[in-house]
Amino acid sequence: MEYDSEKWEKHGNHLLNKKLLEEQSVSEEQKKHIIRIYDIIDKLYKKSEKILDSDKTQEEKKEILKNISVRIENLEYQLQSLWGFPLSEKFHKYNLNIPGCTCPVLDNLDNYGYERIYNCECLVHWWKCENKEDN
Ligand SMILES: [Zn+2]
Repeated sequence: MEYDSEKWEKHGNHLLNKKLLEEQSVSEEQKKHIIRIYDIIDKLYKKSEKILDSDKTQEEKKEILKNISVRIENLEYQLQSLWGFPLSEKFHKYNLNIPGCTCPVLDNLDNYGYERIYNCECLVHWWKCENKEDN
């Protein structure tokens, strides 16, 4: 992979923004955690692809993908904490990149930092709509 080593610190498959690491005073220990979480997210993405390609029923897929999405959401909060950012779903991005997600990409880019928009038919995020009704 080509990358600008002035700007990025390379850890395995992951690139960390050097300026951000400095600004947020991320420690070596925190960095290790961050990399570990990125690795787990990659694995969960691969798992999602496998589930989508499997011959499981739609209902089974929805349940498994929901669980993956819940895990990724937790990991995003951990990442925010490790990077020293406020814990906010509004800034989550990995959760909306899960394979199989059909939530509106452009609307969510526009609304990054304001709100997350979920498609109630999304195989991954359908449960977000159910949660809303409970509130
Ligand atoms: Zn989705």
